[in-house]
Amino acid sequence: MRSRHSFVMRSTAPDARHRLPVVRLGALLAISALVISACTGGGSGSPGASSSDGGDGGAAGGYPDQNITFVVPFSAGGPTDTVTRLIAEPMSEALGQQIVVQNVEGAGGTVAAGEVSQAAADGYTVLMHHIGMSTAPALYSDLPYDPLEDFKTVGLVTEVPMTFIANNDFEPNTFEELIAYVTENADTVTYAHAGIGAASQLCGLLFQSAIGVTLTEVPYEGTGPALTDLVGGQVDFMCDQTTNTSGQIQAGEVKAYAVTTPDRVASLPDIPTTEEAGLPEVQVGVWHGLYVPADTPDEVVEALTAALQVALEDQGVIDQLAELGAAPVSLDRATPEAHSAYLEEQIGVWGPIIEEAGVSAD
Ligand code: ASP
Repeated sequence: MRSRHSFVMRSTAPDARHRLPVVRLGALLAISALVISACTGGGSGSPGASSSDGGDGGAAGGYPDQNITFVVPFSAGGPTDTVTRLIAEPMSEALGQQIVVQNVEGAGGTVAAGEVSQAAADGYTVLMHHIGMSTAPALYSDLPYDPLEDFKTVGLVTEVPMTFIANNDFEPNTFEELIAYVTENADTVTYAHAGIGAASQLCGLLFQSAIGVTLTEVPYEGTGPALTDLVGGQVDFMCDQTTNTSGQIQAGEVKAYAVTTPDRVASLPDIPTTEEAGLPEVQVGVWHGLYVPADTPDEVVEALTAALQVALEDQGVIDQLAELGAAPVSLDRATPEAHSAYLEEQIGVWGPIIEEAGVSAD
């Protein structure tokens, strides 16, 4: 029988320092900004910034003529942040302006998406989001934006597999053993994730649903702090993107059980897929995409899309993503049209799965 999940966290987590007891209230806002690269002068920007620093870009009626802010809806050091910083440099070069990365955490990425939906529609505030853009409508009944109506899509960016990993002292050594152990010890096992509505939570919920258990979830503000506690043994296991688990796996700092894609990951060849390991229903590929507010002029979107396409063909980006188990999408998917169609499709895919799993952020 499938278990029903709610987002009320039990309080048996081993380390309460990082637990966010009322995460769904969502006002957990932490911002860090970093100037990614300096192609022209100027200071760091902020969402909706409208002052000009006199740059000489000219892709679309003078756009861009000031710094551009890329808003990341999770903490620095996590997968979405990693992918953003990777593409920001070649995009910055292509656009002739600095790109400032700003981490706006909270409520599974919905805080950041809500903020960007309200930002000035001038192309200077761009949202990088992941699969959570398509799962939020099913998870949140009071979502403060409509992913399809309140944004223009710029283009898809990457697809990243996820990995089930555990701290080295956690007893099970294989995915099959993990399933058996978790089934027997559901009342004591802890599952870490990057917050309500995060892909890592979704992956864990699919896992719990598939094997019919309800675990103690320990939500963090992002993958970075979750991984730190996992390695430190404060939590038992999690499922997160290869971009940020590959390093620890290859260094032997965590155990890896399975990857969540139909095929094995080239840079992690010894790790079986969930399908090979007996749970084919637990499959998640985390895609990323760029968005701007809905009223952004088309020519501005075109300039961003063109820069994105340059970044996705950059050999440095391709190589670094490959090392991290990921890949850029093909250029025909890095367009507003393909991205919009995919977003709509993904909303249609995840809505029923989330409903069936009984999952809600309310
Ligand atoms: N990996 C996180 C998640 O579970 C988000 C991120 O930092 O990209 O959704």
